[in-house]
Amino acid sequence: MSARRVVHILTLGCPKNEVDSDRMAASLAPSFDLVDDLDAADVAIVNTCSFIREATEESIGTVLGLTGEWKAARPGRFVIVAGCMPARYGDELAASMPEVDAFVPVASEAGLARVVAGLTGSALVSEPAAPTRTAPGPSAYIQVADGCHRRCTFCTIPDIRGDYVSRSLPDVLAEARLLVDGGARELILVGQDVSSWGRDLPGAPVLADLVREVARVEGLSWLRLMYVQPDGITPELLDVMATEPTVCRYLDMPLQHASRPVLRRMARSGDAAEFLRLIGVIRDLVPGVFLRTTLISGFPGETRDDAARLVDFVRDAGIDYVGVFEYSAEEGTPAATMDAQVSARTRRARTQRLRDAAFEVGTERAALLVGRTLAVLVEGVDEDGVTIGRHRGQAPEIDGLVLLDRDLEPGTLVEVEIVDALGYDLVGEVRS
Ligand code: SF4
Repeated sequence: MSARRVVHILTLGCPKNEVDSDRMAASLAPSFDLVDDLDAADVAIVNTCSFIREATEESIGTVLGLTGEWKAARPGRFVIVAGCMPARYGDELAASMPEVDAFVPVASEAGLARVVAGLTGSALVSEPAAPTRTAPGPSAYIQVADGCHRRCTFCTIPDIRGDYVSRSLPDVLAEARLLVDGGARELILVGQDVSSWGRDLPGAPVLADLVREVARVEGLSWLRLMYVQPDGITPELLDVMATEPTVCRYLDMPLQHASRPVLRRMARSGDAAEFLRLIGVIRDLVPGVFLRTTLISGFPGETRDDAARLVDFVRDAGIDYVGVFEYSAEEGTPAATMDAQVSARTRRARTQRLRDAAFEVGTERAALLVGRTLAVLVEGVDEDGVTIGRHRGQAPEIDGLVLLDRDLEPGTLVEVEIVDALGYDLVGEVRS
């Protein structure tokens, strides 16, 4: 049996947290054995999310489950809480959860291996580790920046993760090469605000420069961008998307609302007319592009007209995928103390209306793909034994899948004729 201590990392929250978990895993790998099976582990690290109240509640529930039964089942077990929740709640959290062995907030993650070594009495090996991957199948996320320089009034991210810090182009490129050499076929650039990449680097390079370089990494099949703020979508970026064959014609741009007064209260720019114009430009310059956005329903001060305008916007814009979030007042944010908070009942009703409209539009757009032949990247097999993959317009985990009629190795790229649509999912027959 190995003398090395065994560590399991549990990731909650968004794809950005998955990237952080990858980094944690890479920093631990030289000194500890990382396992997928929690029961086999001596140390459980929970990479928490506390972006909204429900996420905090889920994080607390997970931690309590571990400090109770799991820890008691075998002596010598340790629970570490990492990520956003200790960054947001600090000492208050430590005082309320004495059963937790260590708290490692986002900014101190580099010291995680030292914390695990200290608890378990292990020696540290300092050889550098290659990045590991937690995205499904043949995909990997690369975090190009951390933190955010914007101050949307509903958001806790700048408090939790701090100001915007870009990674250098050579650093991102080196990680991209390692991941592709390690078998990744698709890379996904993420960050709280990918569009601002480079603003704090010498010479102020822009995202289009980074995308062009990463797109040309040898062996890469697809490159995808997530979290591109609308004011960061430039003609140069769209040109790269239209001309670099590996860059997916896919844009995830968080709009959050479409009514000007609500957006101003959110400390965000734009309005429905501006966004529709922008979407028109994107579609002109990048024909066939797939679009995703996120919207918040029931923000303080949102009137019945604002809510109706948002539903109209969803229908007019024809966005393929819309993530609808019901507004929740987050402690410490300016929006939480704004006047004219919308009642929970109204928020729920408006959120449901918006989700219904988004689903209608999204599934209509998915149905338009029936009869087309699309390149599909095979991801693996689902719980029913069906081979699943995604076309270029589907990001992992959020936009639906293509169900295939044949067993294929994950990472294979095939031409698939779409023969049916089931909501956001598509049914395809492999043609090559
Ligand atoms: S741009 Fe995103 S991460 Fe930054 S403050 Fe706004 S919502 Fe938060």
